[in-house]
Amino acid sequence: MTELLIRNGTVFDPLNRIRGEKMDLAVRDGRIAESVSSKAKIIDASGMVVMPGGVDIHSHIAGSKVNSGRILRPEDHEKDVEERTSITRAGVGYSIPSTFTTGYRYSRMGYTTVFEPATPPLKTRHTHEELDQIPIIDKACFPLFGNNWFVMEYLKEGKLEECAAYIAWMLNATKGYAIKIVDPGGVEAWGWGRYLKRLDEEVPHFAITPREILRGLCKINKMLGMPHAIHVHTNNLGNPGNYLTTIETMDCVADLAGGGKPVIHITHVQFCGFTGNSWLNVGSGAPEIAEYVNKHDHVTVDPGQVVFGDTTTMTADGPFQFLLHKLSGNKWVNVDVEGETGAGIVPFRYRRSNYVNAVQWGIGLELMLLVKDPWKIYLTTDHPNAGPFTSYPKVITWLMSKDARGRVLARINKNARRRLDLPGIDREYTFEEIAIVTRAGTSKSLGLKKKGHLGVGADADIAVYSIDVSNIDPSRDYELVRKALANAAYTIKNGEIVVREGEIVATPTGTTYWVDPKVSNDLMQQTTASLSAKFEEYYTVRMANYPVEENYLESPTRIEAVAEV
Ligand SMILES: [Zn+2]
Repeated sequence: MTELLIRNGTVFDPLNRIRGEKMDLAVRDGRIAESVSSKAKIIDASGMVVMPGGVDIHSHIAGSKVNSGRILRPEDHEKDVEERTSITRAGVGYSIPSTFTTGYRYSRMGYTTVFEPATPPLKTRHTHEELDQIPIIDKACFPLFGNNWFVMEYLKEGKLEECAAYIAWMLNATKGYAIKIVDPGGVEAWGWGRYLKRLDEEVPHFAITPREILRGLCKINKMLGMPHAIHVHTNNLGNPGNYLTTIETMDCVADLAGGGKPVIHITHVQFCGFTGNSWLNVGSGAPEIAEYVNKHDHVTVDPGQVVFGDTTTMTADGPFQFLLHKLSGNKWVNVDVEGETGAGIVPFRYRRSNYVNAVQWGIGLELMLLVKDPWKIYLTTDHPNAGPFTSYPKVITWLMSKDARGRVLARINKNARRRLDLPGIDREYTFEEIAIVTRAGTSKSLGLKKKGHLGVGADADIAVYSIDVSNIDPSRDYELVRKALANAAYTIKNGEIVVREGEIVATPTGTTYWVDPKVSNDLMQQTTASLSAKFEEYYTVRMANYPVEENYLESPTRIEAVAEV
């Protein structure tokens, strides 16, 4: 097996408390090793930054709604073509890249693991078909549970253990990784012509509230011993004043904290961080949300940072997409997935001159800069909702340089600039903090023990960037930093060089992680016996035809979770 020696790089490995030390890294058999033989291939990383491969916690890259977005937007692809080479396949971008292109573009930025955060369980076979096609990177997907009829029925009846067994069965059936909750109860309510804006309003026909769904699934997440917290897209998303719903959502599970692990992750907070009571006076709720996060250890967040320009919004939050379609007048797709969830897609252009869009841009950055502990916040654009993932290098320069964001601030809507706290915030991220919010923190949050660090035994997923920290000041030389992060000098995946000077040089197959929680046999038998009748009643699909077999995945990695029930 190949051996590599990465010599003399400036290493940032926050999980092992290595903060920009000049050192060598040995790689053997796809893992970080103590040492290598004299036959090892040598990479000279002098004057370069070395980090673990990037780990993206939330990026919509595969599945039925992503594919519907591709079909909806031929204009998205025409302007951005990826030519084939002797190694790579042809493909297209821009905001919804084709599968192969997705893998290449992440790898070029030094990212080696990406989690797809929303798959309707019934359509997860499709999600895996696309994930299998995405080359190089490791991946996983989060099935949606927040509007699932069975979940709402179990929780309403107080059958927490049966509900836990059902979710364990579903994670096994879909080969899913975590419990995703989108607008709990709200997507179902909208199907009946109702908007749920508060945590204590009831879902029609199910007599259950978003608060009860959130608390029930949070308890179940703990009972099942899941590696990641419940991953939550809040109610009331996209409405002025919704920052209060976000704080209420974080707080509604505060008493379930314990065990030293966060119990809830709130995603793309920018979309649910608005103050005000109309679009005319909307403002940033980031300071209040950051204050809550700073004071509580049971919660982590990501911003869903807005990047100005054209993109495609897509979410299981059907009601929000309907709202956006009405606000923007842009074309729209909406889907309802049998008793499970829904989804909507709307193209969108974020404009600097638009007051609301400029405030949104400010909310994400304020949140990233005001949450003090970088282990509690992770870098996302909620790809492609607030901007394509290929914008990460640009977003990183806004975090590392007050000048870089100042240049954008000078060009945004005047009234928005006046409303935001951002102009007065001086913080600039260090390389160590960037390594935390893009790989170390996300790996820790996802419970990936062999990712996000460079200790002996870790997966040899490594990014090497042409940044000489002794000569480059990111605060001033942010353009150089952006270019280096966009095209890694080397990306190494499981010990194999996959990118050299921004070019793809190999396309191995990454693995797909999935979590298999083991509940007691009695409980599982009892639950599946009653499930088949429910399937007959509610689904067009028979229960026996529902599961995705493990051998259907090209390269699965099963992670067993030990449940308490
Ligand atoms: Zn999302």
